[in-house]
Amino acid sequence: MARIVMKFGGTSVGDIDRIKNVAQRVKREVDSGNEVAVVVSAMSGVTNQLVDWCKQIAPLHDAREYDTVVATGEQVTIGLLSIALQEMGVSARSWCGWQVPIRTDGVHGKARIMAIDTDDMAVRMADGQVAVVAGFQGIGPDNRISTLGRGGSDTSAVALAAALQADRCDIYTDVDGVYTTDPRIVAKARKLDKITYEEMLELASVGAKVLQTRSVEMAMKHRVRVQVLSSFVDAPGTLVCDEDEIVEKELVSGIAYSRDEAKITLVRVPDQPGVAASIFGPLAEAAINVDMIVQNVSDDGRSTDLTFTVGKADLDRARKVIEEARGKLSFERLAADPNVVKVSVIGVGMRSHAGIAQKMFQTLASEGINIQVISTSEIKISVLIDEKYTELALRALHAAYDLDAA
Ligand code: ADP
Ligand code: ASP
Ligand code: MG
Repeated sequence: MARIVMKFGGTSVGDIDRIKNVAQRVKREVDSGNEVAVVVSAMSGVTNQLVDWCKQIAPLHDAREYDTVVATGEQVTIGLLSIALQEMGVSARSWCGWQVPIRTDGVHGKARIMAIDTDDMAVRMADGQVAVVAGFQGIGPDNRISTLGRGGSDTSAVALAAALQADRCDIYTDVDGVYTTDPRIVAKARKLDKITYEEMLELASVGAKVLQTRSVEMAMKHRVRVQVLSSFVDAPGTLVCDEDEIVEKELVSGIAYSRDEAKITLVRVPDQPGVAASIFGPLAEAAINVDMIVQNVSDDGRSTDLTFTVGKADLDRARKVIEEARGKLSFERLAADPNVVKVSVIGVGMRSHAGIAQKMFQTLASEGINIQVISTSEIKISVLIDEKYTELALRALHAAYDLDAA
């Protein structure tokens, strides 16, 4: 007997037949004698619709009310899945985040899980009742509903697995594992049997949305065995695990892209100490993450252009924050470009091998793709390019690093 957490994403619970299919999978685990907690997302498309409704009323809306609205999608699916399980003769009950409770911090819209009290749930699970838990949501210190950021159900699942000290956390999705790059864009993408926590963390953080970044961070910290697999076909998935469990290591294990970033250029900012702090300080205070940054060399020694990226969803707020800080910082003009994509190459092999970045630059150059911003870390190189070259860049890089499936 094992204690397991199963998580099903939006496509996997996209309609009533699919919810019944999920119930079948859950029943199988129950019938094998396992204690099961299931975490579900909203039906596919629902969260987008809810977000869109908030934006239609007010582009810069109250984040607490946003959470009240967007958390509803998961409440529907936990109820439906519980009914489907009961119809199959499986004892089950639904749990909203606040009922568990899953306690988060107060950053509405992108809250972090602080604690999960599983005492009550564990007793019921030991009694054979399946816990059907709403992903993506929790309750903040203000006693209000909070949500964990898009894709947050993965994090709910891993956090619950850690809290329940589960033997496994199985993330069921619409692809049968983690691939060398998004298989929907590059047909020759290859499925990985195993990937290290570290590489998965980098892949997720640069846009491979198959797992939310926080979920990988949490899995790594609490050593949760996460498996990514398909809810539609019975095939082995990808195990996310420690580096020493992987025998054959690749130089480059994956390529990811993110269309979620927008570029901001402040034209002609003074080239003097304290300027970066006066720009990035107010953005940080407004909880706006800045990712890539490049400051041009100034021609005249007095002013320069400063380019950086923020999440596309934060673009309007970032503009507002910078305009409001204008009294304290001077610049000629703010130019915003949402039509960019960040493409990143990841691999632990970068620690020990030179020339991986050069191959990326050369490959993009030979396709005539201009690089706007570059950033690197120990096992990652990212470039910002025009969004229209996303597919071309991914395919060319995938081939250049010999990742194409045979
Ligand atoms: P869910 O609704 O189940 O949470 P998501 O849409 O959030 O599913 O994540 C699964 C999607 O992630 C896949 O459909 C795929 O297009 C995308 N994806 C991006 N990069 C990768 C990758 N390297 N491996 C597998 N899937 C990836
Ligand atoms: N339903 C939420 C979203 O679409 C959470 C999730 O799917 O993980 O972002
Ligand atoms: Mg997801």
